[in-house]
Amino acid sequence: MALRDRNSIPWPNGARCAVCLTFDLDGEFVWTSKVKQDPAFGSATVRSLGRFGPETAMPRILDFLEQRRVRAGVFLVGEVAEKYPELARTIHQHGHEIAHHSLSHVNPARMSREETRDDFQRAYDVLRTVTGVVPRGFRSPAADVTDACWQFLAEHKFTYDSSLMTRELPYVCEVNGARLVELPFHWILDDWVHFGFNMYPSMPYMSGISSQEKVFEIWREEFNGIYEAGQLFMVVMHPQLMGRWSRLRMLARLIDHTRSRGPVWFATPGEVASFWLEHYPEVEEVLLPPRAHATSAQPS
Ligand SMILES: [Zn+2]
Repeated sequence: MALRDRNSIPWPNGARCAVCLTFDLDGEFVWTSKVKQDPAFGSATVRSLGRFGPETAMPRILDFLEQRRVRAGVFLVGEVAEKYPELARTIHQHGHEIAHHSLSHVNPARMSREETRDDFQRAYDVLRTVTGVVPRGFRSPAADVTDACWQFLAEHKFTYDSSLMTRELPYVCEVNGARLVELPFHWILDDWVHFGFNMYPSMPYMSGISSQEKVFEIWREEFNGIYEAGQLFMVVMHPQLMGRWSRLRMLARLIDHTRSRGPVWFATPGEVASFWLEHYPEVEEVLLPPRAHATSAQPS
């Protein structure tokens, strides 16, 4: 394992660190995927909470990003692309990167190997059909990955995954003999942890409706540390949460702050992955050895 020092990464254009803004466009499916656990997750009210993402927040976020000349990565659930094809195409036309986020947002740990393969293949096909783009990046629903996920990514020659949390710099993994760049994030930089909320039913990992000032304080200090260390600032956001005005105004201040520190490289996750592969192609971790058979699904 190569541990890189703080000044060793020559980010493009003399930047001190890389900044990746990503949006997981889950829509209602982040809720309805839990209907088996509680039918109330499929209620009209809960679904409307999720629909706020594609129907109200995402267009607003596209304007927001355009005004600030930032291109983001959008991890798109296949059923959202199917339901809102115009929106999916608009996201792509605005220069944002479309990445794979499963078909219906079912946690792969709750699916068999065959179910995962079928789900991921259908999402892959939907994204290609609707946007004309072959997805090269992936983030797993609930960031939960199984061997079946790695297998699928290797077979379809994905460039990167962004579901793990081991480091604050990208690193190259080997999956069945293929290279896959991991672009790590952390829950601390995931808005769901801070803002995810529903009256009923709730999810056990929600911390409630945080003040955007508290989150700004946390994210600003994380950025400051990452900037000084020359690493990757990977922010994971969900339009149905971040699209509220108070939070978007906070995000605007955060972007202003990152730019005020000095040169930073705003890039899509695919751009960061390509850069990393070009400069640091050596494999640092083996996720799945060559010719390994995927394990069966974990118990749900
Ligand atoms: Zn998601």
